[in-house]
Amino acid sequence: MKAEAMKTLAYGRHWIDERDRAAVDAVLSGDWLTQGPTIGRFEHALQEVTGATHAVACSNGTAALHVTAAALGWGPGDHIVMPAITFLASANCCRYVGAHAVFADIQPETFTLNPAQVERQVQALRASGARVRGIIGVDLTGHPCDWPALRDIADRYSLDLVDDAAHALGARGPDGITIGSGVFADVTTLSFHPVKAITTGEGGAILTNREDLADRARRLCSHGTVRGETQVPDWEGPWHVDMVELGFNYRLTDMQAALGITQLTRLDTFIDQRHALAERYDRAFADDPLVRVQHPVPGIRHAHHLYVIRVPFDNGAVSRRELFERCRKQGILLQVHYRPVMLNSYYARSDGKASHPEALPESLRYYAECVTLPLFPQMTEADVDRVVATVRECLR
Ligand SMILES: *Cc1c(COP(=O)(O)O)cnc(C)c1O
Repeated sequence: MKAEAMKTLAYGRHWIDERDRAAVDAVLSGDWLTQGPTIGRFEHALQEVTGATHAVACSNGTAALHVTAAALGWGPGDHIVMPAITFLASANCCRYVGAHAVFADIQPETFTLNPAQVERQVQALRASGARVRGIIGVDLTGHPCDWPALRDIADRYSLDLVDDAAHALGARGPDGITIGSGVFADVTTLSFHPVKAITTGEGGAILTNREDLADRARRLCSHGTVRGETQVPDWEGPWHVDMVELGFNYRLTDMQAALGITQLTRLDTFIDQRHALAERYDRAFADDPLVRVQHPVPGIRHAHHLYVIRVPFDNGAVSRRELFERCRKQGILLQVHYRPVMLNSYYARSDGKASHPEALPESLRYYAECVTLPLFPQMTEADVDRVVATVRECLR
């Protein structure tokens, strides 16, 4: 019982089993450690799971976003509207290509982009003469954005629509449409960092139904080069590789792809387990006046990447720092997802700044209140009960 009580619980953790180890080991004994056939098998498996026509595996989720921004042709003078409550990479991908990130407010119940605020931001930018090129929605915590509404705005204003689905592999919208299927977003990006739904250590993917974007993303991940008689103009022979644009080495290895394939076979099991644990949290906090939980839209399949509670710290007895410290002493490591992007020094300076910063009251309120509790598939019900008891006790 003592040992159990001291087990440290972080907000997320990977789950590697014997099948994963065997798959990686098989690649290590083979001919291809990278640029081999396992990559294509992983990409095919991602297509099967998401319904995407094309999948391009790459070195991480940030690379996937960078390549997406480049493949869409975003550049200097372009403005991209997105939530401020997201990981830095969602905005940084715009800066990598010289475009500006502009933030729109979120909905207080789902923590995802508020489509009405996105449209307001697009109109305000247009009215000031700024060129708006795209929207990046983030399925924060694994809850799908209101994709039909975002698609409608993207169509009416001729914008590219990108889904940063780093939290949402395996999620479905209320219409039953799978995240990554390409029904709404032009491009969906994934991350396989160890805290995410499945892991390859580092890893990411670009999903799209548009062949032109898939081809360009694949090329950009491999130095901007094309090869083969049909691709290369004035082909000189099998050695002839032509670099047609400036690209990167953003490739995934075969070892990682092998891990991705076996992990992906367990995606549903992982998510079912996350659901069971999240429901247990929901029930435990249902009658707690100090804790507010997320209110998902009915009918969605939440991926439950994060379990976030909201606590009104400004009128409570403890501060968030105190709560973090007290829980840390009990072996429970809380987190905040996320500190709004525009509060970072870089984004406050002129080299990073959005041209038209907006007041974001819901985002700031969310940031003041949010706390991420541990949630990962190998947690037990007893772990959840321990987190609940500790948090409730430390809040008072
Ligand atoms: C994890 C994450 C990324 C970046 O993924 P990496 O694989 O760590 O580069 C991008 N966006 C969001 C919302 C994320 O959570």
